[in-house]
Amino acid sequence: MPIYEYRCNQCEREFSQLFLNSREIRKVKCKFCGGNDLKRLISSFSVHQTEGSRLAGLDTSKPKGDDFYKDSRNVGLWAKKRMKEMGVDLGPKMDEIVERGRTGKILEDYDK
Ligand SMILES: [Zn+2]
Repeated sequence: MPIYEYRCNQCEREFSQLFLNSREIRKVKCKFCGGNDLKRLISSFSVHQTEGSRLAGLDTSKPKGDDFYKDSRNVGLWAKKRMKEMGVDLGPKMDEIVERGRTGKILEDYDK
């Protein structure tokens, strides 16, 4: 299942789309304005990449400063939103992970 990233030439926003089959790729439309004037970007979320290179790509591709990530609530929100944009639904498990990240419980677990 490929995940492609697009930039919309109409509203200039970027989004990721998970495709289940090749027919859907031709029907893709902008998630924000519904436009079909899209440019495909090199995906930083390719399924073939290692986790390390995915994280590296993530840091450089997002205009968020260090301050953003110092607030763990932002990290949780961002991850959740990103998963949703990618069409990945982890259900309650994701909520639990995000909640633990937000409350700092993940760090406590690592200390043990
Ligand atoms: Zn658009």
